[in-house]
Amino acid sequence: MRPLLGDEEALAVAEVVRSGWVAQGPRVAEFEAAFAERMGAGHGIATSSCTTALHLSLHVLGIGPGDEVVVPSFSFIATANAVRYCGATPVFADVDATTGNLTADTVAAVLTARTRAVILVHQAGVPADTAAIEAVCGGLPVVQDAACAAGSTYRGRPAGAGAWLATWSFHPRKLITTGEGGMITTDDGVLAARLRRLREHGMSVSAADRHAGGGAVVEAYTETGFNFRLTDIQAALGLVQLKRLDGIVARRRELAARYRLLLSEVDGLRAVADPPYGTTNYQSFWVLLDERIEISRNDLLAALAAGGVSARRGIMAAHTEPAYAGHPHAPLPVTELLTSRSVILPLHHELSAADQDRVVQELKDAVTAKTYGAAK
Ligand SMILES: *Cc1c(COP(=O)(O)O)cnc(C)c1O
Repeated sequence: MRPLLGDEEALAVAEVVRSGWVAQGPRVAEFEAAFAERMGAGHGIATSSCTTALHLSLHVLGIGPGDEVVVPSFSFIATANAVRYCGATPVFADVDATTGNLTADTVAAVLTARTRAVILVHQAGVPADTAAIEAVCGGLPVVQDAACAAGSTYRGRPAGAGAWLATWSFHPRKLITTGEGGMITTDDGVLAARLRRLREHGMSVSAADRHAGGGAVVEAYTETGFNFRLTDIQAALGLVQLKRLDGIVARRRELAARYRLLLSEVDGLRAVADPPYGTTNYQSFWVLLDERIEISRNDLLAALAAGGVSARRGIMAAHTEPAYAGHPHAPLPVTELLTSRSVILPLHHELSAADQDRVVQELKDAVTAKTYGAAK
């Protein structure tokens, strides 16, 4: 991944620096409104990251010790960690082999009387079947971890639209970036107001509003909050990036289609694709190696690296990491297959056709050398 950043971002940041107001202020409010509108949500609450957005979402639900929250193990580790920050227990559900996402069936299999919420993930930008999962959850709150999903669609709308709470990331590993940063979107105005206070120490009136008000305004601290604020420097960057989003998605989808075509010649590889009910922004382009491919995932990564191709292991699985050693969970066969047998190929806005040809050639060479024992 390589972020797409230009002079316009540099100028926007410089303008904020010259203004003298660098912490959360007018640019953050502007970014929240613009991002929420683009994602089809009523309100946006900017945060310092998607990790803090997830933490705040569970906090506002009153999740605490003794509670269970269903999450995929097959996700960046922050999804599961957010549950632990609240003192609650993450319960891992397995995922679908094609999308890498939770399904109604895998969630239903792990619901208990102590389940207080479900976090579904639109993994690597592939939308999860949100309506089916919500249906099986009855009235349980479903938080959507949309960290990777800006620009993906679900049943004709932006992924995350209509979510009770959806959380987003602006880390440079995602399509648009603010360096670090995150957002919560919701249609619930009352919840939005509380989230806005909670991300700023529980203050009744934000520092920016007190400043703008001019007169003497004394704030109250209504409940124990956090400092999860984004800065105006970051928001200025985000406003420019948001304008680039549609172009970035279009380019990634074009490159992904070309990869899919080139890779269709390699037996034993399956590349990530759109699910029947939506479109992915191809935040990550991952390929699954089936049993016809003998080379191990790590040997393949090493062979690609030796050829100058910066590939990465596929999506991680939290339950296989030392931080979750001994954490009880039901069998997760699909998660374990996907995490051990998938690889993420280079994909960024400025990748050229020649770059792609080289990636595919190195991949073919590595796979054939191992499979047929031929020297490279
Ligand atoms: C990147 C990512 C996060 C964490 O985002 P940060 O903004 O880096 O905190 C959380 N969940 C998923 C699914 C992610 O991909």
